[in-house]
Amino acid sequence: MLEPVGDETPETGVVLSDNPATGRPIAGVRLDTEASYEQVLSEAIAGFDRWRRVPAPVRGQVVRAIGEELRRYLVPLGELVALEVGKIRAEGIGEVQETIDIADFAVGLSRQLYGKTMPSERPEHRMLEQWLPLGPVGVITAFNFPNAVWGWNAMLGAVCGDSLIWKPSLLAPLTAIATNAIAERVAREMGHEGVFNLVIGTDDVVGERLIHDGRVPLISATGSCRMGRHVGAVVARRLGRTLLELGGNNAIIVEPDADLDLAFEGTFFGAVGTAGQRCTTTRRLIVHESIAETLTERLVEAYKDVKIGDPLDRSTLVGPLINSRSVDQFLRAIEQAKQQGGEVLVGGERVTGDGLGGHFVRPTIIRAPASGPFPISHEETFAPILYIFSYRDLDEAIAMQNDVDQGLSSAIFAGSVRATERFLSPAGTGSDCGLAYVNLGTSGAEIGGAFGGEKDTGGGRESGSDAWRQYMRRQTVTINHGSSMRLAQGIEFGASS
Ligand code: NAD
Repeated sequence: MLEPVGDETPETGVVLSDNPATGRPIAGVRLDTEASYEQVLSEAIAGFDRWRRVPAPVRGQVVRAIGEELRRYLVPLGELVALEVGKIRAEGIGEVQETIDIADFAVGLSRQLYGKTMPSERPEHRMLEQWLPLGPVGVITAFNFPNAVWGWNAMLGAVCGDSLIWKPSLLAPLTAIATNAIAERVAREMGHEGVFNLVIGTDDVVGERLIHDGRVPLISATGSCRMGRHVGAVVARRLGRTLLELGGNNAIIVEPDADLDLAFEGTFFGAVGTAGQRCTTTRRLIVHESIAETLTERLVEAYKDVKIGDPLDRSTLVGPLINSRSVDQFLRAIEQAKQQGGEVLVGGERVTGDGLGGHFVRPTIIRAPASGPFPISHEETFAPILYIFSYRDLDEAIAMQNDVDQGLSSAIFAGSVRATERFLSPAGTGSDCGLAYVNLGTSGAEIGGAFGGEKDTGGGRESGSDAWRQYMRRQTVTINHGSSMRLAQGIEFGASS
């Protein structure tokens, strides 16, 4: 009997990918070994050496072709995401669309890997910066975005001239195989082998080897804060670079003059979407006391009606959690919340019944105690639990929002520009998160901006804006085109001084 997926060290050499909606296996995947890891690494190193020599705009054409091929596979790949990790079909397809969007972005970027020029203090000298390919980049991905997180890293890394070594979660190996196969085939058919590489293995055998590997200058790792603390320390010890995208504990603040319809919709999608399994899921709602009751009642009513079921059924809004361990964590968090004075207003239980043989739970709202500590709300329980707090003034609400270890996504719903500007204060005294939304929920980032968070979220930035720079190395160049040797800072050095 093979071990179920998610067990950390399957001894059979095969991992089973389960359908979380049924709990039954979809397929088995052979795990990489030390020897096959070495093989993949040598291909990635050789691939890098060829790929770095290809002009960046030509690399962009390869990425363009990959984006086109992903467009052809948008629906089946999105459905595979839904089947393997349980997010609803629309979100599975949306995730693949995100990879297509970042591919489009990367194509343009391939002609815009700009360096600066700066005036030299010395006559007949010129200074400039150039950006050079970095090397094979290790990409470690979490289960909950089994396609797009690779896309953010791989599409940018590829136009920057890097080869990629993707180590996906063992909870989503099938999406990784399908996605990488598309990119690898397109690149190979265009004459570029060894750019897109995949290793699927346990954290002990493959994960640890990758993060310790001095031949891999950058490790981009997405997952829990616990994983990031370990990966960050290991890579720092060898003076490698990391790009860490870790857990969130995201809050929405609702001011008394907010548009309550907008606040309701933003909170509902943010808290319930992807069954609470997004890094940007809304986990805390901080509502002004004058409207707390109204908004809470509206949310509770909507939660009662939410359709839970097969993620591939188009009428479903909430699919399953990824595995039974997640269900246990959900139930444990609810018990702790109750012991700490929280009041369960809706949900709080497992959902079973016809067609619900997998890991289903009911989205849950818990009212936080009016005062005193509520430590469970400081944790990221990767499940649909929303804690509701109330407040009297905005400074207090912002302090509550910032009072967690993570710093990924934040939002405010407000009518007054004074409140929104207080939240976005240029002095940095507002939201302390990497993402700040006004009259939008915490979830659903666009690819054009840099994505990531502060504090225990790890500080990394992926996707748009200037995130590409992390996949390259910067070289500052100074050229003397005169005939005398001049030192900087006017230093005279030599026999005549
Ligand atoms: P996880 O930390 O359990 O695993 C993430 C990845 O790290 C997996 O591929 C896993 O195999 C790998 N890993 C773990 N230990 C390793 C080791 N010693 N060496 C190398 N690799 C190792 O996280 P998960 O349960 O898959 O995903 C959920 C978490 O990811 C949540 O905390 C969520 O907030 C976070 N997440 C963050 C972002 C973001 O952009 N900030 C995006 C998606 C998910």
